[in-house]
Amino acid sequence: MKKRLLLTPLLLLALFVGVLLARTATFSSRQLEVEPFTPVAVDARAAAERLAQAIRIQTISHQDSEQVETAAFEQLHALLETSFPRVHATLARERISELALLYTWNGSDPSLPPTIFLAHQDVVAVAPDTESDWTHPAFAGVVADGYIWGRGTLDDKGALLGILEAAEALIAEGFTPRRTLHFAFGHDEEVGGQAGAKETARLLEERGVRAYFCLDEGLAITHGIVPGVRAPVALIGTAEKGYLSVALTAEVTGGHSSAPPPDTAIGMVSRAVAALEANPFPGRLAGPARDMLECVGPEMDFPMRLVMANLWAFGPIVRGQLESAPATAAALRSTIAPTIFEAGVKENVLPATARAVVNLRIMPGETIEGALAHVRNTIADDRVSVAVIPPANEPSPVASVDAPAYETLNRSIRQVFPEAVVAPMLVLGGTDSRHYTAVAENVYKFLPFPLGEDDLPRFHGTDERVAVEDYVKAIQFYALLMRNAAG
Ligand SMILES: [Zn+2]
Repeated sequence: MKKRLLLTPLLLLALFVGVLLARTATFSSRQLEVEPFTPVAVDARAAAERLAQAIRIQTISHQDSEQVETAAFEQLHALLETSFPRVHATLARERISELALLYTWNGSDPSLPPTIFLAHQDVVAVAPDTESDWTHPAFAGVVADGYIWGRGTLDDKGALLGILEAAEALIAEGFTPRRTLHFAFGHDEEVGGQAGAKETARLLEERGVRAYFCLDEGLAITHGIVPGVRAPVALIGTAEKGYLSVALTAEVTGGHSSAPPPDTAIGMVSRAVAALEANPFPGRLAGPARDMLECVGPEMDFPMRLVMANLWAFGPIVRGQLESAPATAAALRSTIAPTIFEAGVKENVLPATARAVVNLRIMPGETIEGALAHVRNTIADDRVSVAVIPPANEPSPVASVDAPAYETLNRSIRQVFPEAVVAPMLVLGGTDSRHYTAVAENVYKFLPFPLGEDDLPRFHGTDERVAVEDYVKAIQFYALLMRNAAG
């Protein structure tokens, strides 16, 4: 009897370890084996100079459309025309909402659904008082030390001109697509894409376009960012979070601070914000974040590989690890961030109104309505009104990793960047491509540039730049993807 009591847990332990090891042994690489590719002819110096010229044009977007420098965008259009003569002789170009551009490269087989490449013309302004921190001025368009420097090199003129360089090179080679290719370049991505991407997508939808896939910026080739993997990881965004801002307002009768009532406007809104912070949305190791771990897991060293092969057992531990850092925690749950707090003008006067703005990013699979219900139920105080600040966006659908389109993209990345591990992932921010969900079932978000930890602050920050060598590779990637998708 005693012996059996001891044996049972030992047997169970042996069984458990056996399952862990067996799953690890069969946890094989999901990376595609690919053939080498034939590069297109690219004159690196000339291409870098063309991108530098585009950087010099200050196509800054503004929330207030009245403030937009229309002339700068028209100057960029003119530059594109002179820089890419073959593209402009071969493709049709339309202007949408005045400043957005839609190029159409008709395929020889109209029965094939088209592929859409997205990029945006606009850039964010340089933050006041940071101009002098730049190694080379943000809008000087300097090519030096092997880099093209300036606002927009990474976000997103590098992609825009890279796509056109690729098409120009393909036309020069005599390539004609079987599948129609569209290039759609919005002009207001940084302020939501309501006039550019949204209207362009609406037009394509009206024309009955159902694309093979859509490709936009979003994620990139990360170096040293995905823990446990030594190889660079090319992350393909398969979904992006939704966006919702709500204003929490309390209105009371103001008065003198010498005789305060038990409930003040500031107190009520403070409690509402504190309650929201204390009651986060539940986190789950699911969707694109889990897909990512299962894809990079086989490339990890032991014992991390054993852990990733057995998420059924170690899921809660991995989740705890990911939840300990804000950037990874945000991939597992909808987030709540108080961003504005306003009340009071004088130290001895009770304000009649207090207002806070809370910004939420909603996980795919959840909804704006559900998020609002969580906010209202958590605050549970009808003296605090909850109002949506438009525009709000639902989270995107999740693009398939089993679709032929994903394979086309995956294969093209592996061919041009054979050292990289390819994996799907969730995009935490927003891109123009969210407006294309009615036009394409599969919308992928991938920028073909390598990014290390120190490159992340360059987006919307100081010393944005791209290496000339990496820019040429990006052009090769776009050219190959056009061939693989439409050849
Ligand atoms: Zn961008």
